[in-house]
Parts: sequence; C-alpha cells; structure tokens
Amino acid sequence: MPQGQGFRRTKIVATLGPASTSERVLTDIIRAGVDVVRINSSHGQPASWAPWMDQVREIAAQQGRYVAILVDLQGPRIRVGALPEPLELLKGASVVFAPEGEAQPGEIPTTYGALAQDLQPDSCILLDDGLIAVDVTGVAENRAHGVVLHGGVLRSHKGINLPGVQVSAPAVTETDRRSLAVALEHGADMIGVSFVRRADDLEAVRALVQSHVQVVAKIEKAAALDDLERILEASDALMVARGDLGVELPYEEVPLAQKRVIALANRRARPVITATQMLESMVHKPRPTRAEASDVANAILDGTDAVMLSAETAVGEYPVEAVQAMARIISEMERSVSIERQPQRRRSDAQAALGTPTVADAIAFATSVAAELLAVPVIVCFTKSGFTARRIAAHRPAVPIVGLSTEVATCRYLSLVWGTIPLLAERAPTYEAMLGKARELLAAEGLVEPGDRIVVTAGVPFDVPGTTNLLKVETI
Ligand code: ATP
Ligand code: MG
Ligand code: MG
Repeated sequence: MPQGQGFRRTKIVATLGPASTSERVLTDIIRAGVDVVRINSSHGQPASWAPWMDQVREIAAQQGRYVAILVDLQGPRIRVGALPEPLELLKGASVVFAPEGEAQPGEIPTTYGALAQDLQPDSCILLDDGLIAVDVTGVAENRAHGVVLHGGVLRSHKGINLPGVQVSAPAVTETDRRSLAVALEHGADMIGVSFVRRADDLEAVRALVQSHVQVVAKIEKAAALDDLERILEASDALMVARGDLGVELPYEEVPLAQKRVIALANRRARPVITATQMLESMVHKPRPTRAEASDVANAILDGTDAVMLSAETAVGEYPVEAVQAMARIISEMERSVSIERQPQRRRSDAQAALGTPTVADAIAFATSVAAELLAVPVIVCFTKSGFTARRIAAHRPAVPIVGLSTEVATCRYLSLVWGTIPLLAERAPTYEAMLGKARELLAAEGLVEPGDRIVVTAGVPFDVPGTTNLLKVETI
C-alpha cells in the first residue's frame, strides 16, 4: 500500500509477547499500522525473543515498511523472588522482607540485596503495581520489617516500588548487559532505559551501544521529573511510562506529569511515547472502553508522537483489534481536530525554547510555514541523521513530512517521529540528483501528482549531517 494513503501522523508502538509473535498476528499488527515494536526484556529469556526481531525485519520488508525495534531494559527494577506458593497478606499483619537466598519460610524474598539499607523506618513498600502496600516499621541488618496497609495475594516475581527512596542499585545491571548484547546482535534500533533517575543513567547505556542506536528514557520516577531537562538532553526520545510512574507518584499526579513531559519533548523536538494501559480492557475485550478511547485521544491532543500498547498486544486476546482500535482513534482525531490551532502554539513555544536559533531551526520553521501557505501535499526533507526531519515535525505542520535518508537506521528512527514518512534513497552526489530520486519515490508511493508543488529542505554541501541550510519549492 502506498504510505500516503490512510497515513496517520501519530505513531503506534506495540509490545510483543506470546499473543503477537506468530507470523500471522505479527503480519496483521504491522499491516494494521504498528510503526515500532517493543520487546520488554523483563519478560522471557533473550533466547526466546531474539528470533522475534528477525521475524519483524522479514515481515516489515515484505510490506515495504520501516518498523523500528525497541528493546526495553529492565534496569534497577526490584522484584519479589520465587515464592513456593502465593502468599496471602492480610491488612495489619507483620511481614519481613529478606534477600533472596536468605529468606526463611514465611518471609518475602526480594531480588535486591541492599533493600533494607536503602529504606527508612517511615518508607512504604508497594507490591504488584501498588495493589499491596506495606509500611516499614524498622530495618535490622539486611531485613526490613513492616505492617500490611493494603492486603492481597502476593505471587512470585511481582514488581516492588519504593516511592521516594533513593535506590542505590546500578542503572545497568548484569541482566541488562546480557539482554543488551542479544538486542544489539539482532539489530535493535532503540534501547529503552527503565527507572531513569538522572542523565548519567542514560550515558551508562549509551556507552554500551553503537552510535546509530537511539536511547529512550522511560520517565517513571519522581526523581526523573525533577531532572527532566537534563534527561531529555541526554536521550534521543522519551517515554511517559505511566505504569510505574503511577505507583512511584500518587496516581492523581500522572495526568499533569504526562502533559509536562510531552510539552517539554515537543519544545525540544524529541520524540515522545505515551505508554501503559491505553486500551487495557482490550486484553480481554474486543472493544475499548470510552475512557480508554478518550485517553488515547487526549494523549494526541497533548502532542505525543506515539501511543503505545503493552499487555494488549503482548498477552491480550485481541492484539490485532487493539492496534486497529488505536489506528481508528488516531485517524478520527487527525481528521477532526483543527490543526490550525496547534502549529501556532508550537511555533511560539519552539521559538521561546530555542535560545539561540540555528540555521536548521530557521529552515525547519520556515518549511512548516511555507508548506501550509502553499498547501503542498508533502514536505520533503533530505536528512542524514533524522535531525532536520524531527525539527520540522516539532512544528507539527499540516502536511506529511517525507524523511528521505540514505541510512536505514535513520528511516527506522523516523518511524517514531510524528507526521514523518521515512523513505530510503540511494546515495546521490548532488542536490539535483537527489531530487530526481525523490520525484521517482514520491510518485511510486502515490504521494504526489504531476503539477504538484513540494517544499524541499536539504544541506549543501550535500551528504554531511547537520548542515541543513536550503529550502526550495519544486514542481513535480
Ligand atoms: P514495564 O514497567 O517495563 O512496562 P511491565 O511488567 O509493565 O514492565 P509490559 O511490557 O508493560 O511489562 O507488558 C505488560 C504485561 O504483558 C507484563 O506484565 C507481562 O505480563 C506481559 N508481557 C510483556 N512481555 C511479555 C513477554 N515477552 N512474555 C510474556 N509476557 C509478557
Ligand atoms: Mg508496563
Ligand atoms: Mg516500568
């Protein structure tokens, strides 16, 4: 299918799992509009998910699409260890947490040996996404003692959150290093960094990956919100990871945190993903709730580049329907919302945020204005690294941005960028030669017709990243 038809500006990220990795389902979810697949290395062994990556490449190629692969690292996530059987925790009961391996029968084993050292007597331990809460009453050696505030049945390997506690665990664990090695070997395009606390946590991952691999900062801790500017500068994209964020923060603070993260990412031209429970009821039902449809729509209004599916596609009963539902909500929003209003806001924001604008910033701004004034069908952006395309996208122009790159890695990165259609072009020596190739590709994709005008941006001298300095209006 030509990419111009039914093109959605807001991108879709889908988490893979047992429900979505048969060839049929994977083919169908990619056809239904998935732009980025996510593999969560917290679940399953690398040996089980590595073949999925090869399969994604094959299916995307069959469909002539650039689908990026995002592998999330578990990071300093603390979990309950293996329990011989589920443990019923009653309100008011006394409990003891002990390092896995040392835990006695009746104690709760944890995967984090230094848990007791990091806690204060007034800390709160949240288990299983906050469904079970324990007030810490004291710490003795490597054991933490507490009283159950909200009870429930605790199962093995459930997550543990310690809101407000400075966890001393390293940003990249041994498990993460093993996952990363497999992810990179199989060509991951993006690496998700969980529980980012400070910009240094991202540097730790960046030091381990090749330069074309994008580093995505998952914003899910209060500490990250306090240091958002620096985290953003150190990352290639952000994710509002509402699952853990809603446990680390009081849940009523999540909606405004989401808006703040998205607004900042928009201003700095960084792609941002809104994640978790967007269509959660579709794990078991073929249709979303009205509240979920509103949630997706509101994230789009907030300015998110992408919306994400988690359990819906990883373990849900309706993975294809969930992607289709996402696509329907996006299409309807983009058809109906007055786009004139949005660019105004973004332009003034973008200008305010730029500080000292560069030539590339001026070109990006002028491009989006010219494209709208001339009502061209597409903007064509010759982009080596994706930098110029995402700067143009930050202005949220009313027409699609074709990101034309000679780099496959850039095409995959652009699959996450709002409003951008990635296209791969062979290397060409001059602007004229590149334009010739662009004309052919645009026609083949059904994006333009003879007589159409297009707005083109490029850098001269050609083929050097970060030199965009040219804006031309060409006729097809
Ligand atoms: P995170 O905090 O990184 O989002 P999570 O535990 O919430 O971690 P998700 O990736 O959001 O995990 O996936 C949602 C649920 O889908 C998980 O809790 C898990 O039950 C299931 N799941 C995800 N990936 C897999 C997988 N590879 N194998 C089995 N189950 C999976
Ligand atoms: Mg999750
Ligand atoms: Mg998380």
